[in-house]
Amino acid sequence: MERENAWKKYDEAALSELEELSRRYKGFLDSGKTERECADFAVKAAEERGYISLESAVAAGKKLEPGAKLYSSPMGKTIMLFIIGKQPLEKGINIVGAHIDSPRIDLKQNPLYEDSDLVYLDTHYYGGIKKYQWVTLPLALHGVVVKKDGTKINVVVGEDDADPVLCISDLLIHLSQEQMQKKAAEVIGGEDLNLIIGGRPIISEDDKEKEPVKANILNILKEKYGFEEEDFLSAEIEIVPAGRARDLGLDRSMILGYGHDDRVCAFAEMEAIFGIEGVPERTCCCLFADKEEIGSVGATGMQAHYFENAFAELMALTGDYCDLKLRRGLAASKMLSCDVSAGYDPNFGSAFEKKNAAFLGRGVCFNKYTGSRGKSGSNDANAEYMAEVRRIMDDANVSFQTAELGRVDLGGGGTIAYICALYCMNVIDSGVAVLSMHAPWEIISKADLYEAMKGYKAFLLNA
Ligand code: MN
Ligand code: MN
Repeated sequence: MERENAWKKYDEAALSELEELSRRYKGFLDSGKTERECADFAVKAAEERGYISLESAVAAGKKLEPGAKLYSSPMGKTIMLFIIGKQPLEKGINIVGAHIDSPRIDLKQNPLYEDSDLVYLDTHYYGGIKKYQWVTLPLALHGVVVKKDGTKINVVVGEDDADPVLCISDLLIHLSQEQMQKKAAEVIGGEDLNLIIGGRPIISEDDKEKEPVKANILNILKEKYGFEEEDFLSAEIEIVPAGRARDLGLDRSMILGYGHDDRVCAFAEMEAIFGIEGVPERTCCCLFADKEEIGSVGATGMQAHYFENAFAELMALTGDYCDLKLRRGLAASKMLSCDVSAGYDPNFGSAFEKKNAAFLGRGVCFNKYTGSRGKSGSNDANAEYMAEVRRIMDDANVSFQTAELGRVDLGGGGTIAYICALYCMNVIDSGVAVLSMHAPWEIISKADLYEAMKGYKAFLLNA
């Protein structure tokens, strides 16, 4: 049952396709470090390929014919891309769905303060992180500040070579006798994640400024970025690792990047749907969800109804809407819940069970179930459906492997799979194996990205 390493099967043409895909992927990671930036990227790419917005089609009452390409990006933090197929929507559609939010550190609503001649931004981390990994790294700020009048200011600091970066400090080893005795979860506490953003006082004539370093920073925020301290109240600014995704390894077989979870699956899906030529048999959908890392909650998380609403709008525009048909269409749909899986790490071999682990370079990974403590919380895919997926992958010569998320009873995790399964549709988890998942810099194999893209395309066309 051991799976072959995918690299062994590539000819020159496949290798150059893989390299080109990886180059585009690194570009996607560099311009998409937040869910908003990833959604913007996808909207632009879709428009360049002739996709029209679902909202504009609804407004115009446009009649949709097979082959029509549409996108919808609810709140600019999610996106759905559709190609209308030959079969009626009531027969179900083929969906590949990933998430574009990644673990990170968010600013608090009232974040700015001065202490001991330094100025800080106070934070609240987002998603599951080992907090000690986020100190002493160059960090960048990405996000938006929305002013009371509705003006939106886009903020990106720390990515351009000419930009300054930001940083969270750690205690020097010389004075760490107590810190080094603590549990890893407590070495750096949640309230210790304070971002240093300034250290130079303003010079005032009367020298009466109480917080002169903060005053200087406020001047910079006003002059350079056009907002004031109050405007932090309506801002969404995310602190992420500064810098670009890079090739990893002397053989350049891997990519070190921020946010592979889950942008690698999102990107593979997007490339898959963009690669479809002609009119597919069943309608195809590529979906990017937000808020997966905090439980798929909120108006942009998978638990919200934007997908179902879009499905209903498509039915209406193809002239075939009624509630019963909508329910039938959702239940008859098939989905790959595309999310990263834990790659087997020889440095931490005891965390895995090797027969049921995903290995870097052995292709796209299928998790029949995830969950923890006896599969709890998992979407356990049907055997019949897994058989169909195996057939599709084999027919398309896609390298795939199957895995569980680590050793039984060691931990666990979930995805958006169980939420879409609520419609009674077939769903299985599928993704790319990652090393150091949720760390500031994560590792994937280029071969797995390539196989995922091919596998997702084969699924959209043949499921
Ligand atoms: Mn994920
Ligand atoms: Mn995750």
